Amino acid sequence: MTKLQFPAPPPVTLPIRDSDKAYAVARIFCVGRNYADHAAEFGNQVDRDMPFYFTKCPVHMTRSGARIPYPLATENYHHEMEFAVAIGTPAFRVSEDRAMETVFGYAASLDMTRRDLQAKAKEARKPWDISKDFEHGAIVGAITPAADFGKPGPQAISLLLNGEPVQRAHLSDMVWSVPAIIAHLSTLYHLGPGDLILTGTPAGVGPVRPGDVLYGEIDGLAPVELTVGPKE
Ligand code: MN
Repeated sequence: MTKLQFPAPPPVTLPIRDSDKAYAVARIFCVGRNYADHAAEFGNQVDRDMPFYFTKCPVHMTRSGARIPYPLATENYHHEMEFAVAIGTPAFRVSEDRAMETVFGYAASLDMTRRDLQAKAKEARKPWDISKDFEHGAIVGAITPAADFGKPGPQAISLLLNGEPVQRAHLSDMVWSVPAIIAHLSTLYHLGPGDLILTGTPAGVGPVRPGDVLYGEIDGLAPVELTVGPKE
């Protein structure tokens, strides 16, 4: 085998609740505008024809409980609390009826966003990448196996910023359901173990400042926690 010039990067993994095994993350997909009240807060309409996506590099994922520096090159760093789906079996052109069979588990997550860079990108009709896919851009909690969670729907999803409630909804408020997202995304990619899907954020997104503490909860899941340090 060819020797590596530089050491291979370590795998990016998430803890699994009540397990001594970890979940190795392969890809991170994110759904845009999947709660009508969040779409409306930026003057957007939800797209009822099909969901849309952007991606984050797994190396930009950070586990829950971290303290991170305030990110580079932004003056408007935002929180987006999201329900994450962890795929566990191959899913290619899977039907909505069979989609849930491909889920390994679920996690609470944060789709962190450099909102000012996103606004500029939107205005210039340029890609969103640097506004969404940056260091510590995805914060993800421990995975709860699907069998221990049940069907996504009635569970509340909420976020506290320094102890104050800022986002709250129910998973049933999603425009595109979990099986609908998996079915659609599996026409675009050969999904499989390691693929994480962040399913969009409810209304109430807003700025995070140095020193802030985020605490996100979804009924039945381990929380996602983040402390933001000073600017570098
Ligand atoms: Mn989001």
